Amino acid sequence: MIEKVHKIISRANNRKAVGVPILLYHRVIESFSDPQLLCVTPQHFSEHLDVLRKNHIPISLEELVSREKNCSLQPNRIAVTFDDGYADNLINAKPILERYDMLATVFITGANIDGVREFWWDELERIVLQPGNLPRKIELDIAGKMFFRDLSEANDYGEKEFNQFHMWNVLETEDMNPRSELYRSLCQFLHPLTYDECQKVLDKLRALTNVSAEGRATHRSMSADEIILLTKDGLIKAGAHTMTHPVLARLPIEQQRDEINKNKVQLEDILGYKVAGFSYPYGTKADYTKTTKKLVQDAGFIYACANYYGQTRRWTDPFELPRFLVRDWDGDEFARQLQTFLQQ
Ligand SMILES: [Zn+2]
Repeated sequence: MIEKVHKIISRANNRKAVGVPILLYHRVIESFSDPQLLCVTPQHFSEHLDVLRKNHIPISLEELVSREKNCSLQPNRIAVTFDDGYADNLINAKPILERYDMLATVFITGANIDGVREFWWDELERIVLQPGNLPRKIELDIAGKMFFRDLSEANDYGEKEFNQFHMWNVLETEDMNPRSELYRSLCQFLHPLTYDECQKVLDKLRALTNVSAEGRATHRSMSADEIILLTKDGLIKAGAHTMTHPVLARLPIEQQRDEINKNKVQLEDILGYKVAGFSYPYGTKADYTKTTKKLVQDAGFIYACANYYGQTRRWTDPFELPRFLVRDWDGDEFARQLQTFLQQ
């Protein structure tokens, strides 16, 4: 009984303890097709910051983890982060962050810096969901597993179909047509693969079409020079996000270490100073392990961000900071969502 009372009291205290929400964005851009729901329009992003600046004070993640250690988290603090390192973070997000004097951290994937290819989920969208022809029957060897689909008449996918179905996204339980089913299924197959395995599948798929390997300007990552521009006045910090965006939990330790350490060294070469933060690719509890956490610590990072809901409180593990994924909500919806975040 006494134990039960203690539990109730401690739960009540936990709820009262100061928490800091960390927001997770990916892209700030107008996008006609966004099946992964990664894009927030510049207009909506401005509205989000407008809401935030009314009641919140921005805090950097370095300060957040050091305050956490000192057990002195202040109320009404908020942190903004971006994952992946898309060029629109510099082109569209930075001017808006500056206008609202909002601190942010951008976690950057190494392999795409100065590269020409898109992230695998974007290249897949370009091949499968953009207008164009695919063979009626698709047969692929995906890392030793056979994948087969008959697209029937959906092999020919024109502007009309694209315009009709462009709003579809992976959260919808229904597939709009065989193209969306193909996209969803291939995402499930590609997600656990290594970068090289993934590129092989995309190369094979592209060989069936006229789609080029060169990525779209709208979907490119920042170059090294752009990372310097992004971070040069200190409002935005760069963090690491691995070299090739793998599911770290699926890799042997040596490969995990390489993914983490090489990205850190690469960013530090570009920036000329130590990079303090890391964010686990995909970031759910299934995407990294205790070993991954230890490797991140050993690499010299002082914190790491995950991707599941929760606020950072004084007892939060700095190598598993929870974050709230933000979607393309208008200001009113963002304000409502923020209220629910603040109750977690
Ligand atoms: Zn990512």
